[in-house]
Amino acid sequence: MTVLVLVEHGPEGVDELSLQALALARGLGEPLAALLVGPGGADAAAGLGAHGVESVYAAEDERLGAFAPGAWARCVTDLAGRVEPSAIVAPGSNRGNEVIAHVAARLGLPFAANCTRVEPGEPLTLTRVRWGGSLLEEARLHGSPALLSSAPHMVAAATVNGAEAPPVEAFSPALEEADLAVHVSEHVDTVTSGISLAEAKVVVSGGRGVGSAEGFAILEELAGELDAAVGCSRVVTSAGWRPHTDQVGQTGTKVSPDLYIACGISGATQHIAGCKGAKKILAINTDAEAPILMSADYAVIGDLTEIVPAITAELRKERGS
Ligand SMILES: Cc1cc2nc3c(=O)[nH]c(=O)nc-3n(C[C@H](O)[C@H](O)[C@H](O)COP(=O)(O)OP(=O)(O)OC[C@H]3O[C@@H](n4cnc5c(N)ncnc54)[C@H](O)[C@@H]3O)c2cc1C
Repeated sequence: MTVLVLVEHGPEGVDELSLQALALARGLGEPLAALLVGPGGADAAAGLGAHGVESVYAAEDERLGAFAPGAWARCVTDLAGRVEPSAIVAPGSNRGNEVIAHVAARLGLPFAANCTRVEPGEPLTLTRVRWGGSLLEEARLHGSPALLSSAPHMVAAATVNGAEAPPVEAFSPALEEADLAVHVSEHVDTVTSGISLAEAKVVVSGGRGVGSAEGFAILEELAGELDAAVGCSRVVTSAGWRPHTDQVGQTGTKVSPDLYIACGISGATQHIAGCKGAKKILAINTDAEAPILMSADYAVIGDLTEIVPAITAELRKERGS
């Protein structure tokens, strides 16, 4: 049988979370077929052989250019009707999870989100992340096809040896108007520093301890020196100091930078769920007992209004700027 993987792509090519989904899907030990939805899918698929994909289906209908969860789900269910996969795996993105939730509703099947490991069998055995990352659940998933998504940044993308470019077949789903009723109608650019939060190598993030919207000026300055993105906790977005798009956490963006600098953030589990993919965490906090210290690799105990400008000044001194 085949495992069908929904692969997201953009102008930069295939999305990293989709490569992680392919790595998870390989655990099922069956040939992988990839479905790419929207114009440009066939071109983006060229490198997928290196990730174990043996066949590609590209649904390039112009109407699929804007994300429409119902229409993407139609693509998946139509193709599944043809390919009859044993499992359908989606990336651990908001889109991936939304589309498979639609697929599950249409097919009347259960859906296991946030998986970190799958083992073949009847039923499938899997491990998945629950409760904002504080629990790893061992579960068995019934239903055919099995519907899964990977947990973001918990499964490393990996290449295979000796892979060839997979054949690409154009695929035309039987789209209905109702499938397109909900769709993205406009993109509003909210990246302020020009560096995307999800992809930044360094994130300077602020919490309630920053004190106000204006208080973020010193974090912006430090971020400027480090080519970093600025993030924040939910308290900050709830107070209106920063837009929701800057929020890191369970209900915000999940980040995986080399360095995450948490300034005046206590380290609630819902926040840690969004930053635990960071290679190193530096906490700056007045409270030596703050929970963030349990997750931090480095900590400076003190007032961020003194420490953050001091780091910026030191960096500038080092660079002679
Ligand atoms: C369903 C649900 C989903 C949630 N999703 C998210 C989410 O996605 N992201 C998220 O962040 N939260 C989320 N939360 C909220 C979360 O539980 C916490 O309430 C929130 O993360 C706390 O934000 P904070 O750390 O900024 O504030 P606080 O917990 O109030 O911590 C402020 C910290 O700043 C320190 N501090 C104060 N002044 C200074 C100073 N001058 N210098 C240095 N340190 C100072 C304090 O010692 C303290 O540790 C969610 C909650 C729920 C229930």
